[in-house]
Amino acid sequence: MHIKSAEFIVSNQDVAKCPNNNIPEYAFIGRSNVGKSSLINMLTERKSLAKTSGRPGKTQLINHFLINKNWYLVDLPGYGYARVSKSTKKVFQKFITTYFEKRKQLVSAFVLVDIRHDPQPIDLEFMQWLGEHMIPFSIIFTKADKLKPKAIENHIESYKNILLETWEEMPNYFITSASKKIGRDELLAYIDSINNN
Ligand code: GDP
Repeated sequence: MHIKSAEFIVSNQDVAKCPNNNIPEYAFIGRSNVGKSSLINMLTERKSLAKTSGRPGKTQLINHFLINKNWYLVDLPGYGYARVSKSTKKVFQKFITTYFEKRKQLVSAFVLVDIRHDPQPIDLEFMQWLGEHMIPFSIIFTKADKLKPKAIENHIESYKNILLETWEEMPNYFITSASKKIGRDELLAYIDSINNN
């Protein structure tokens, strides 16, 4: 997919205020610092469409970007960070869950996980929650440039082992690096194939 246009449309915390049309959307979510903004900028070939933040948890908004005027890339807040108060965390989780429960335009979620880390309970719990709510998702492994191919294989294997304890099959997954532009074509081709189906 060639990215002809990528426009910021709206940011908010209220699902009711998200764009009111039938354009299909894909939501990107993961722990703070996982490399979500960098990945979005890599995918769209825009330097700062999504704001990369030094401070985890800064952007607690649902951000809609319109891509090629035919699908939305939705940048959701990072979860699982320590620097916000408990009450902020509650509100933030609530609007994320409301987004997933209510947003009919959502075609698929992408759950980002750092390829260097062993499977973390918070990510596994979130995937479980998506599954229970019948929300299709793929896993995006980020920062693949940081590991050698063998280590990447081992980390994915450990994910498979854990996920297959509860899932019948391994969810669809992508191996990416924003710095080395790995996985871009595969991810965009995947979105393209769903949009054109
Ligand atoms: P976000 O909080 O999930 O949006 O994460 P950011 O995109 O702001 O990235 C967090 C940190 O990880 C920054 O220091 C980035 O430079 C770094 N980072 C992001 N993607 C990659 C990647 O593909 N490779 C490497 N080596 N570092 C990355």
